[in-house]
Amino acid sequence: MKISFYDTKPYDKIFFDKENEKYGYEIRYYETKLSKKTAILSKDCTAAVAFVNDDIDEDAISALNELGVGLIAMRCAGYNNVDLKAAEGKIKIARVPVYSPHAVAEHAMAMLLTLNRRIHKAFLRTRDYNFSLNGLTGFDLYGKTVGVIGTGNIGSAFVDICTGFGMKVYAYDIIKTNNKAEYASLDKIFSECDIISLHCPLTKDTYHIINDESIGKMKNGVYIINTSRGSLIDSQALLNGIISKKIGGACLDVYEEETEIFHEDFSDTTNKDELLVQLISMPNVIVTSHQGFLTKEALEKIASVTLKNISDYSNKRTLENEVFSKKIIKSGSKVPF
Ligand code: NAD
Repeated sequence: MKISFYDTKPYDKIFFDKENEKYGYEIRYYETKLSKKTAILSKDCTAAVAFVNDDIDEDAISALNELGVGLIAMRCAGYNNVDLKAAEGKIKIARVPVYSPHAVAEHAMAMLLTLNRRIHKAFLRTRDYNFSLNGLTGFDLYGKTVGVIGTGNIGSAFVDICTGFGMKVYAYDIIKTNNKAEYASLDKIFSECDIISLHCPLTKDTYHIINDESIGKMKNGVYIINTSRGSLIDSQALLNGIISKKIGGACLDVYEEETEIFHEDFSDTTNKDELLVQLISMPNVIVTSHQGFLTKEALEKIASVTLKNISDYSNKRTLENEVFSKKIIKSGSKVPF
């Protein structure tokens, strides 16, 4: 059985080849992303494996459908880049709902510690034999208040980490499932928290949840962490908040226009995303390239669940990780609704 695999990186191949020893599928690895133009590469394939920044719109889905591909196996949890409505009745969509919530939660804390203790600056200074401490003052996380928006798998892991640091945690979710978190209104989180971390999916309700208005309600010097989806934050409003010093710093593992940028090397190009360039140039903004998931444990789980999804589909077993059309919106879209 043949499988097309889009947006392949060397680390994907290592973990999928190992897991595929159990199945013996013919996996055709492609570096290109899945889109209407590249769907043709799935000719003769039963399933296509895709990732967060592939452009799986109506045209791409129709093209795959015409080629006889029956399943798009997302090797990630989020699927806001898939037009689920267009897929209905044409092609099944599966995902990896949970791989390692700890990987992303730990990355969020790593970014917070880096920002707060200026590790990014200290690292560069000492490499230059500069041992000055000026400008590196942070604050104790112990005793500070953190607001966690979204207390699913990752948000809950982040709540545990913050509790371990002796922080006070306020949480907001539309479903209150974490019995260790103290739930509060969004307004309370915006107005009382020293740090706000986003762990909810991108939906119609959460699009630009961090905007001029919500930033206006926040404490001066607030830190904002986003390891979830870029469009949860209005990037221009964030930049304005950083420039005006309303916001004390931001940790971004995702960016609303990341689709064509993240996971690739553009160091030699001059035509860059102006807003991202400005954000990166700020001393108190840390950007990583959607790497929260990138741990050995997460990659092993992603490979095993993705290939099991394909096996379930091809053997006509119940596809337990199938996703269905609901109100998720397309990532990176400037006019979302
Ligand atoms: P999850 O489904 O376990 O949890 C999401 C939580 O958000 C749920 O509890 C849900 O009720 C809540 N939620 C939904 N709508 C909400 C709203 N309007 N306001 C507040 N909360 C709301 O998902 P998860 O595994 O914890 O992942 C969270 C997000 O992290 C994903 O949506 C994905 O976008 C992102 N993610 C990022 C990476 C990365 O590498 N940076 C990796 C995996 C997932």
